[in-house]
Amino acid sequence: MMEITMTCPECGSGIHVLPTLGASKAQCGICNKEVDVKFDENHSKGILRDCPCCERKDFYSQKDFNRKLGVVLFVITALLSLWMFLSPYAPYSFTPFIVLYLFDFILFRRLKPIAICYKCDTIFRNVANIKNIPGFDHEMNDRIKYADHDFGGRGISEEDSIIH
Ligand SMILES: [Zn+2]
Ligand SMILES: [Zn+2]
Repeated sequence: MMEITMTCPECGSGIHVLPTLGASKAQCGICNKEVDVKFDENHSKGILRDCPCCERKDFYSQKDFNRKLGVVLFVITALLSLWMFLSPYAPYSFTPFIVLYLFDFILFRRLKPIAICYKCDTIFRNVANIKNIPGFDHEMNDRIKYADHDFGGRGISEEDSIIH
């Protein structure tokens, strides 16, 4: 089942919802704000074509990586390495980085890809058609976020070929 995490427009908290046909509102668990949602049959099959929150069709995919956790792990590794460098184990002070690298490698490979809506930043997990969703594109992001452009799910390269 597809899992959806929206951002509450009122307080910025994450709102977790499962696609339910006929449901038209999701409620923030923190501030009780109600947000309009629109689910169709695709969503209940786990297929992502239309955003249930903003009704756009432009998404990108990325690994479900926790950036804060990554930074914390890196800082711990660096401190440990520095401490070893100042100790009699100095010749081995690089080993924490090897451990981090292996850990990262194993962890990263196990992470599942997620899809994110360019327009409203809603996160989608367990998306059936994730392979058809391209990675992040800076130009698309800028045009959607700042110029409110709607690519309609066609992506930037396809749209360019239509114009020329
Ligand atoms: Zn809220
Ligand atoms: Zn959206």
